[in-house]
Amino acid sequence: MNTTALAPSVAPPASTPATQYDAVVIGAGVAGLYQLHRLREMGMTVRAYDAASGVGGTWYWNRYPGARFDSQAEIYQYWFSEELYKSWQPSERFPAQPETERWLNYVADKLDLKKDIQFNTRIASAHYDEAQNRWNITTSQGEHIQAQFLIACCGMLSTPLSDRFPGQANFKGQIYHTGLWPKTPVDFKGKRVAVIGTGATGIQVIQTIAPEVGSLKIFVRTPQYVIPMQNPKYSAEDWARWGAQFHQLKKRVRETFAGFDYDFDAGPWADKTPEERTAVLEKLWADGSLALWLASFPEMFFDEAVSEEVSEFVRVKMRERLKHNPDLCKLLIPTDYGFGTHRVPLENKYLEVYLQPNVETVDCKQTPIERIVPEGIQTADGQVHEVDIIVMAVGFDAGSGALSRIDIRGRDGRSLKDQWSQEIRTAMGLQVHGYPNLFTTGAPLAPSAALCNMTTCLQQQVDWISDCIAHARQQGKTVVEATKAFEDAWVQHHDETAAKTLVVKTDSWYMGSNVDGKPRRLLSYIGGVGNYHAKCDELARTGYPGFDMR
Ligand code: NAP
Repeated sequence: MNTTALAPSVAPPASTPATQYDAVVIGAGVAGLYQLHRLREMGMTVRAYDAASGVGGTWYWNRYPGARFDSQAEIYQYWFSEELYKSWQPSERFPAQPETERWLNYVADKLDLKKDIQFNTRIASAHYDEAQNRWNITTSQGEHIQAQFLIACCGMLSTPLSDRFPGQANFKGQIYHTGLWPKTPVDFKGKRVAVIGTGATGIQVIQTIAPEVGSLKIFVRTPQYVIPMQNPKYSAEDWARWGAQFHQLKKRVRETFAGFDYDFDAGPWADKTPEERTAVLEKLWADGSLALWLASFPEMFFDEAVSEEVSEFVRVKMRERLKHNPDLCKLLIPTDYGFGTHRVPLENKYLEVYLQPNVETVDCKQTPIERIVPEGIQTADGQVHEVDIIVMAVGFDAGSGALSRIDIRGRDGRSLKDQWSQEIRTAMGLQVHGYPNLFTTGAPLAPSAALCNMTTCLQQQVDWISDCIAHARQQGKTVVEATKAFEDAWVQHHDETAAKTLVVKTDSWYMGSNVDGKPRRLLSYIGGVGNYHAKCDELARTGYPGFDMR
């Protein structure tokens, strides 16, 4: 199965004169834009490259119906400019993709970043030249670039599992992967549509297209605990109120468990009566955000009994919404993993879709999908589910996928793809030993994707990387490389922290288990954003021990 189509491996052409930069940034999403800005502000020559035709990263590619974030708009923000924060007016608490893409364009234009971004260009290879201490980089356009620093802002969830099933090329209708959604709107009106996948993405697609389709066939394998989203509109007055809290919010998001403005403030589970616990859960449920997960009782991550009680609280809500239909409850309410050990999606009338007369389900645990045939989807029982459109909401090769599809060679020609196909390791998600002057954001073993509000973590990592580079330059050093000992210690700490939680017992992209053959390890650091941030600050304050500067 080809899940990480490798860009053609292009050895840097020795004869072609290379274009020189101090730094190359891969990606022009939330992290890449800010990284470009920071390095330019430091007086460095920088160029960013993006495979897309515009800025946005996740918010460029995931333009599927219903795409929206579930961090509140007041914290899904850049924090380096109060003026920037106040000058953009979000329309609602959880804006949809088009608005977020517009916002990132607004940021890029305001900072005049686009002149230093090359679009429609994929980085194909990056080979470290130890003699020169520079990266030799080639692009999909055949260019040869040299840069001292290479900073990967490729995104945690940016490598779609687009080639998931045999026979896809033979399908007579249209197949769309949510992470590669076309710019021209897809017309679902009156069509027979299949959606494969019921993760956070599939759920958003399903609830959005359900009113439009002729019929909908939903292929469910692992059901999800879901929370109804509360998404009020934001007026100018609302935004002014948030603007007035800019400094508190900026400080707050860096200190909490998940980089949100809420935290585990409910007090210990054991100190509360059952009624008090229920009252806390009800209040957070009514908030219609991820607070029920990331700001209720941390014990649910560690203690099976607490996990079961919180899970049952959510199951009761779900059963009511499914009108206690036994078949639907069995198919759609999780029982074999605990609430929050999988990414929790927010939704809007998602469960009610299953009560529509034109909606059918296929239980992929009972009858797995075997192949795509010209007429539709064939399951293991031999049945062909005939449809006009297939929406693949089947997820991503998370964390390691984006860098593994670039031919990255560090010292002694070592290949990052090969290494990560054996074991996924990083030094705090910021560097990988053996790859000098390569820095990473949104990479494995740092907090990410709902275990961190992404804008919080990406900016914190960009700031750390920029300060680290500035420090090296001030010291007259040309090379920065995480030591093996530091990386070993981080991996050990990461694993020990993860092993205490129930998350490692649940199969999901968090554990890499959605990709055949991927080594199992929790991809996101689960020790808390506040802790991670403090550790990063401590490294900077003490001269970057664990990072060899030479
Ligand atoms: P995902 O969570 O990995 O879900 C993929 C879905 O496809 C799962 O239901 C999976 O079932 C199913 N699937 C995969 N292969 C299958 C097969 N062969 N047969 C049947 N079903 C199959 O991916 P995602 O929904 O794209 O979400 C990824 C992440 O993106 C989220 O966890 C979240 O962090 C982020 N995201 C965020 C937002 C937001 O902010 N609101 C929205 C969307 C996505 P199994 O679970 O059984 O493998």
